[in-house]
Amino acid sequence: MRQNQFVNQVLAWQANHGRHDLPWQQPATPYRVLVSEIMLQQTQVTTVIPYFERWMSSFPTLQSLAAATEDQVMAHWQGLGYYSRARNLLKAARHLIEHSAGEFPDDLKELQEIPGVGRYTAGAIRSFAFDQYGPIVDGNVRRLFCRLFGIEGVPGTSVVDKELWRLAEELTPKEHNRRFAQGLLDLGATLCTPRNPNCTSCPLQADCVAFREQRQNELPHKKATKTIPRREAHFVLHLQADKPVRIRLLKRPPSGIWASLWCLPELDEAPTQGELVTEFTHTFSHFKMHGQVWLTQDSTLCLNEDSATQYVALEQLADFGLPAPFRALLPSLMQEI
Ligand code: SF4
Repeated sequence: MRQNQFVNQVLAWQANHGRHDLPWQQPATPYRVLVSEIMLQQTQVTTVIPYFERWMSSFPTLQSLAAATEDQVMAHWQGLGYYSRARNLLKAARHLIEHSAGEFPDDLKELQEIPGVGRYTAGAIRSFAFDQYGPIVDGNVRRLFCRLFGIEGVPGTSVVDKELWRLAEELTPKEHNRRFAQGLLDLGATLCTPRNPNCTSCPLQADCVAFREQRQNELPHKKATKTIPRREAHFVLHLQADKPVRIRLLKRPPSGIWASLWCLPELDEAPTQGELVTEFTHTFSHFKMHGQVWLTQDSTLCLNEDSATQYVALEQLADFGLPAPFRALLPSLMQEI
C-alpha cells in the first residue's frame, strides 16, 4: 500500500468517525498529553477519564506536579495499578523543571530522556502536542498493523516489533500528525478490536491481508500462556481503640511490589495469635497473591524503624495511596469493627 494512500484513508476516516472529545485533546499541551499517555498504558480510556480530570484539577501544571509529595501523587493514582507510572510522572515533572525550566523538548531522542518516556510516548507527545512527525506503536497499532500487513510472529518479540516500528516510521506522514496518530489509535480501539473487528466499516479493508484471508482471529499471533505461581501473604490489622477507630498503615519500601504505597503491615507467616478476618486474591503480572488479614492485639508486630507508620481513620483513607485489594477491603472492614 502506498504511504500517501494509507495516510489519506486514515485522515479521512478520523475526521468523520474518530474521537474528537477526549479530555486530553482540549487543549493538547505536552503536559496533558504526557499525563494521559502514561495513564493510558495498560488502562482503558473510559477508566482513565475520571482519573485524568481529577489529576488535572489537583496538578494543573507541570510545576504543580513537581511540587507535590509522593504520597499526594500516589493517592491520585490509587485504583489505576502499575504504580511505577505515577512515580515516573512525578520524576518526569521534576526532571523537566530541573533540566529545561519546565519546557518539553520537541526532539524524539530528547523526549526519551524524560523518566518513564519510551519510544511510543515520545512519538505520541510529538504527534499530539507538537503536531509533528512522531511514529507510534502501541497495542492498538500493533494489532492493526499485524492484521493489515499479515505480520506473522508474536508482537513483543524483537523481530516483530522491529518490523512494526519500521512500518510506523515509513507510514507516518510529515504533516497532519495529530490527526494521523489519533486516527491510528482510533482505528485500533474502535474498529480493529481484539475480538470481532468491524471490517465492514473499515476504510483499510481492501488492502487488509487478515480480511482477505479471513485470519482476523488468528492475527496478531498470541503469546503462549503460562501458569503463574501463587504466593501466600499475611497482613496485620491492628487497631487503635480510639473513636473513630484507626488502623495502622505502613509505607512500603520504594522498590518491590506496591512500592511506596501505604498498606497493612505484612508478616512472613501467619501470626501465632490473631483472628483471620478476611482473605483475598490479587493477580500481579508474574504471580498470584493469596492474602490473609489477621486482627491482632499485638502492636509490636512489624514495627520497623525504617518504615513510616501511621494510624488512620476511615475518612482519612482516601488521602493514602493504597494497593487495590486494601482499597476495596479496608472501608468495609473498618465499618464492621
Ligand atoms: Fe482490522 Fe478488519 Fe480493518 Fe483489517 S479490515 S484492519 S482486520 S478492521
